[in-house]
Amino acid sequence: MTTRRVTTYIAAAVICGLASLSIGHTARASDTALPLPGASPKARLVSRIDTKDRVAFITIDDGRSVTDSMADFIKDNKIPVTSFVLPEWLKKLWEPTYSTFPKMTFENHTNTHRRLGRLSLEKQTRELCEASRLVTKIAGDAPRLFRPPGGVMNNNTLKAAGACGMPYVVKWSVDTAGGVVNPVGARTTLQRGDIILLHYIPQDTAVLKQVMQMMKEAGLKPALLRDYLP
Ligand SMILES: [Zn+2]
Repeated sequence: MTTRRVTTYIAAAVICGLASLSIGHTARASDTALPLPGASPKARLVSRIDTKDRVAFITIDDGRSVTDSMADFIKDNKIPVTSFVLPEWLKKLWEPTYSTFPKMTFENHTNTHRRLGRLSLEKQTRELCEASRLVTKIAGDAPRLFRPPGGVMNNNTLKAAGACGMPYVVKWSVDTAGGVVNPVGARTTLQRGDIILLHYIPQDTAVLKQVMQMMKEAGLKPALLRDYLP
């Protein structure tokens, strides 16, 4: 982490702390807690990675429960996974589960899984900064990536992510809702640079196995997003 990013993160965290302290006092005090426009660079939105490497990216969200079969499959195959886990579940399952994965990074998916599209910049910033603070406390490493719940976001989301020290907002190019691997656009196979969205739910153990098989057929290897979004 660069000095500038640390400074930005601390500044934003302090601003968020002030914002939460001001709740219940006056609207005016709350207004002063908004991050200054342009004080931090806006995050960049990415849905896939432009790369010549034959890689794709497995991302898994939420994290209330992780089945033994999914945990074993990830560990046995040493699959690099980018996890967007809520702090509450990361904390509850850290010791038995999340801390045991060999190649996993823990990123930001808000603190309370709120849909961000209609929230003010201040509220979005508070959600994101608080989640980063908690994930850092639990995992020992500050999130660098942010994924909005449901993919719902706006321009303020890019500002809030930047203010909380995350240079990238990450959506996906392959959905797996309902257990169906569904690349965006008119194609049925996986391609290099794809960002694949799964969830920590029982049915996605089978989806993960299917995704790994499809990657193999396409000559792709899983990689960590952080290695391609420095
Ligand atoms: Zn989610």
